[in-house]
Amino acid sequence: MILPGATIGILGGGQLGRMLALAAAQLGYRCHVYAPDAQSVAAEVSAGFTCAPWSDRNMLGNFAAVCDVVTFEFENIPVGPLVAIPPGKLSPSARALEVAQDRLKEKRFAEQQGGRPAPFAQVDSMEDLATAVSRVGAPGILKTRRDGYDGKGQWRVESEREVEALRLPGSDLVYEGLVHFTSEFSVILVRGAGGELRFWDSPENVHENGILARSKLPASEAVAGQVPAARELAGRMAAALDYVGVMTCEFFATETGPVFNEMAPRVHNSGHWTIEGAETSQFENHIRAICGMPLGDTATVAARVAMDNLVGSDIERAARILAEPGAHLHLYGKAEARPGRKMGHVTRLGR
Ligand code: AMP
Repeated sequence: MILPGATIGILGGGQLGRMLALAAAQLGYRCHVYAPDAQSVAAEVSAGFTCAPWSDRNMLGNFAAVCDVVTFEFENIPVGPLVAIPPGKLSPSARALEVAQDRLKEKRFAEQQGGRPAPFAQVDSMEDLATAVSRVGAPGILKTRRDGYDGKGQWRVESEREVEALRLPGSDLVYEGLVHFTSEFSVILVRGAGGELRFWDSPENVHENGILARSKLPASEAVAGQVPAARELAGRMAAALDYVGVMTCEFFATETGPVFNEMAPRVHNSGHWTIEGAETSQFENHIRAICGMPLGDTATVAARVAMDNLVGSDIERAARILAEPGAHLHLYGKAEARPGRKMGHVTRLGR
């Protein structure tokens, strides 16, 4: 057990790290953030900050030396340099990161565990793309295998005819068929150091322009019927990775059952509602899990919960939200409200 008073290292300096650090502070832990960008909203609320590139093994080693356990809030960290962190100190493991940061590996892994992703094909050349589109069908989406998030690194392919006119954005891509879904939902779980597994209720998620706009509970009946199968897959994936901490899997609910979209080896935007909407938040349970402490109850505390993201200029609504009784506003402290940038969120509970 890593007891309160110890130092938790967080790789990544964004809002997820900020909310992890706040939850850790409540339990008496200190956090030390490692991030390449000097502007870190996580470092602002943490006891320590190392600003250095992901590739700097020396700095990673020095950082790990002052931490009792190291976790991450960002999945696009290069895995190679993480060897500088002593084995056993990194939780979840680098293997979970390796699988989750590559869309192709992630889909293959989900398949191996009995899941069903959208039909997909590896694409490294124009010939591959033509073969992929004729095999998988169009419309579909061409995605970069790595570094894509919030709909970035994605190109819609409407028809086979379109392929010739396309200029490939490099190699290391994956083409996937468009899924006709009725809704989207996520499975958010926490797995303890001893393998104990707990799930939060699954929110139904609405995306706008590839970015999560809203998570709400309870999910519709159509989603609720698919949650058991989705949980089983997510639980198997977590067990196969010997995962410790919070893990999120996103799914499409379709007429033929859940289709796996992607996994995040970390706390997730669709779990922000758990701060006020559950007995124990995803952030607190992640801290508890990586410290080997007893896990908290994941039960939902209200009949209805809705979490809305404040993206870009939505932040201008902050004062109005504060004037609203029962609205729980979270602002991430980012200096500039660029379009598409997640600036905060608001959670509302209902009877
Ligand atoms: P991703 O970053 O892959 O999760 O994509 C962001 C959002 O784009 C998803 O949550 C969906 O709303 C949409 N999307 C991505 N891939 C597909 C697909 N194969 N079929 C339908 N919608 C998709």
